[in-house]
Amino acid sequence: MAQLGKGKLNYRCPSCFMRDLDIDMFYNKDTGIYSCIRCQYRGTEEDVLEKNEMVRFRYLDRAKRFTKFDFD
Ligand SMILES: [Zn+2]
Repeated sequence: MAQLGKGKLNYRCPSCFMRDLDIDMFYNKDTGIYSCIRCQYRGTEEDVLEKNEMVRFRYLDRAKRFTKFDFD
């Protein structure tokens, strides 16, 4: 079943995600800024989504390189 309540506010921190840490962030409704509960990362929803895309891309790139490494 779908999770109710947290919804789209439940983003993970891109900075921690890059270090293999899955950390949820707080959202400040007044400023529209997400802040990580573990590191110093702070950013808007747009910034979070953009950085999460970059992290995902890096992971894909790494996976690709592993495959290529197997072939060599
Ligand atoms: Zn963080």
